Amino acid sequence: MIPSVLPTYARAPLSFVKGEGSWLIEADGRHFLDLGAGIAVNALGHANPALVEALTDQAQTLWHTSNLYEIPAQTKLADQLVEATFADTVFFTNSGTEACELAVKMARKYWHDKDQPERVEIITWEGSFHGRSSAGIAAAGSEKMVKGFGPILDGFVHMSFGDVEGTEVAINDKTAAILVEPVQGEGGIRPIENADLMALRAMCDENGILLIFDEVQCGVGRTAKLFAHEWAYIAPDIMMVAKGIGGGFPLGAVLATENAASGMVAGTHGSTYGGNPLACAVGSKVMEIVSDPEFLEDVSRRAGLLRQKLEGLVAAHPEVFEFVRGSGLMLGLRCKAVNMDVVNAGYANGVITVPAADNVIRLLPPLTISDDEISEAVERLDAAATAVEQA
Ligand SMILES: *Cc1c(COP(=O)(O)O)cnc(C)c1O
Repeated sequence: MIPSVLPTYARAPLSFVKGEGSWLIEADGRHFLDLGAGIAVNALGHANPALVEALTDQAQTLWHTSNLYEIPAQTKLADQLVEATFADTVFFTNSGTEACELAVKMARKYWHDKDQPERVEIITWEGSFHGRSSAGIAAAGSEKMVKGFGPILDGFVHMSFGDVEGTEVAINDKTAAILVEPVQGEGGIRPIENADLMALRAMCDENGILLIFDEVQCGVGRTAKLFAHEWAYIAPDIMMVAKGIGGGFPLGAVLATENAASGMVAGTHGSTYGGNPLACAVGSKVMEIVSDPEFLEDVSRRAGLLRQKLEGLVAAHPEVFEFVRGSGLMLGLRCKAVNMDVVNAGYANGVITVPAADNVIRLLPPLTISDDEISEAVERLDAAATAVEQA
């Protein structure tokens, strides 16, 4: 008989009932160090008091009105994002894949309104992930995600990861935009080189096409910059954000320049829940904390500590791990063992990690993880690696 919850997930047999900072507590009382943070969502840890306060204050005041009206909490968060980034304007969604939908629509509408309606194609790189909507799976283009779901949304061109030259050659008079993740998450924590991000920016400028970054996973302080592309000293025209921005409350956004957003006039797009007061109250508090340069500096310091300890872990377990890669607190351990075996051994040793493509395990701890918790986490990973070796 089919389970009451549609069985689309391969779930681990763990039921967490409480979270505190970097810790998750299982129904049976076991404490786990959480290096997954709900896949880079709980950016400020579990039950962060500042976020609890922001949420409960708003919950006691007003939950929902509608985008038929002004929503002050939404305007406040949009102002914060515009202030802190390249963007001139923001649309709020509830998820990453909805942000992808709008990014695609925005790029196409831009060209439609410039009397070049044939420019609908978006070039993406293999290994990317943009969510599970029809546009998201078409953009990523992986066989596994699109198979069986009927006609694939047309207009995506897929190039190999890192193929800057091929991408430039692929640009033609049908190209609307290039869409990449500055650090691929699901693809196995694969950062795009700064030089390559700069080259993408330059080719978009030369050809007058739009550059879209998906920072759903790598954004909001994850790499120790507010947004990952800042490491390359360039900016996109359109950016997708979600996951960390809500700190655990469903919230996403599309940020854009005034030029890129020029087609999106009244009536062209909308969302019932997008920019809901509860989500925006939490998002505002997240932004207030994460955009503080001192906070980001401390993320950078602790990320250095974690990375150093992980290099030691790799050296101590050459049969289990190959190398560490990533940026800030978005780190991947490429495994020699089967990555899922390492994740499962982690569960048995009280540490949560997340598998990714390319036989990688992802470490995406809360940005607030302490030095002691980093030490404890790596000790638990060490015990997990030893268990894998002995299996
Ligand atoms: C998670 C993710 C998405 C999809 O976000 P949802 O909120 O699950 O729809 C899109 N892009 C990237 C890079 C992601 O990591």
